[in-house]
Amino acid sequence: MSFTTLGLSEPLLKSIAQEGYTEPTPIQKQAISVVLEGRDVLAAAQTGTGKTAGFTLPLLENLAKTSPTMKPKQIRALVLTPTRELAAQVAESVKTYGKHTPFKSTMIFGGVGINPQLAALRKGVEIVIATPGRLLDIAGQKGIDFSALEVLILDEADRMLDMGFIHDIKKLMKMMPQKRQTLLFSATFSPEIKKLASGLLHSPITIEVARENTTAEQISQVVHHVDKSRKRELLSQLIKTKQWEQVLVFTRTKHGANRLSKQLEESGIKASAIHGNKSQGARTKALSDFKNRTVRVLVATDIAARGIDIDQLPHVVNYELPNVPEDYVHRIGRTGRAGMKGEAVSLVCVDEHKLLHGIEKFIGSKIEKVDIEAFRPDPSIKAEPIQNGRGARGQGSRNKRPHNGGRNRNRQAAAR
Ligand code: AMP
Repeated sequence: MSFTTLGLSEPLLKSIAQEGYTEPTPIQKQAISVVLEGRDVLAAAQTGTGKTAGFTLPLLENLAKTSPTMKPKQIRALVLTPTRELAAQVAESVKTYGKHTPFKSTMIFGGVGINPQLAALRKGVEIVIATPGRLLDIAGQKGIDFSALEVLILDEADRMLDMGFIHDIKKLMKMMPQKRQTLLFSATFSPEIKKLASGLLHSPITIEVARENTTAEQISQVVHHVDKSRKRELLSQLIKTKQWEQVLVFTRTKHGANRLSKQLEESGIKASAIHGNKSQGARTKALSDFKNRTVRVLVATDIAARGIDIDQLPHVVNYELPNVPEDYVHRIGRTGRAGMKGEAVSLVCVDEHKLLHGIEKFIGSKIEKVDIEAFRPDPSIKAEPIQNGRGARGQGSRNKRPHNGGRNRNRQAAAR
């Protein structure tokens, strides 16, 4: 199947060709035609499946079918995303695929000045890509008018729920016309997502695709057992001896990310940290320095890294294991994209053995352990509870995550 048979017209086919895509991905094969028909869609698809083009292409095609007269602040399509990084990536896709169409788009997210965003809306755009918190602020000041909205897309809806955006989303929904097309994309179909979907979607078509490069095939995974106090030394050694040139390293906390990036810099390895406490400017700079290889190591927290899309990222390191096994899958999914081989290395200390078992249970296989002689753990060191305010909770599936208001607020703050 090629893109031409999916019902897309010349301006979009031209962009697709310019991107070098020859064949639609499975999610695109399934989603594009049903979205073109105007149906609501509930899709389970993760980042890396090509889902963004899966909704952006038919969205642009549908918008091109009519040319209504728009009043200032009215918009025709809205994409809601959990984080500004994801918003930026969707916005980039809208620009890329829509470059031969007349549509204008803008991004709305917190952490930056509101006035340029209000000005862009006044000037007039068809498509808005937004995080819920700031959009609600803007809607509250009547800076946006949803009365002409034709399409609503929720991207990574499961993350938005996890981050406590549900109330913001519900408030926004109340301002939107009942008659519209709604597409909901989520990594999983948890009971919460199904509940949200049943309130939002009208007779949706359900689409479920697995990542093409599932963990076992494209991504080699290893665990090195090491004492907590020696992780940094081991990481520096791995980077230097294996000559890794572009490494994404995950820590559990923002503080840990800052500290590690500083320590790596001190040992002569160019590094920067990306997390929710950094200004938008600092995050964008860190990401672009990493992409253009001015910086060798990007140290990230889970939320900040969500949706980061770097083609051919070869190495992911779990400096600390995540508390939630599903985050492990998201983390290592940053590598091994588009048929490339990827390597995911986890540095595991005695405190994290339980988390490791939880992850292995979740992914349904054991991760290979590779001993590094000089870094064998000291057997006299006993496990201690993990100190990050969240302990070792949430080791079950995402559905078992505690709905902790405080944490949700923190996550929201990080995302805004
Ligand atoms: P996404 O899942 O939307 O984050 O997309 C993951 C990556 O796949 C992005 O870098 C896209 O540029 C790329 N991509 C999307 N569709 C295709 C396609 N049909 N062929 C090749 N690459 C694609």
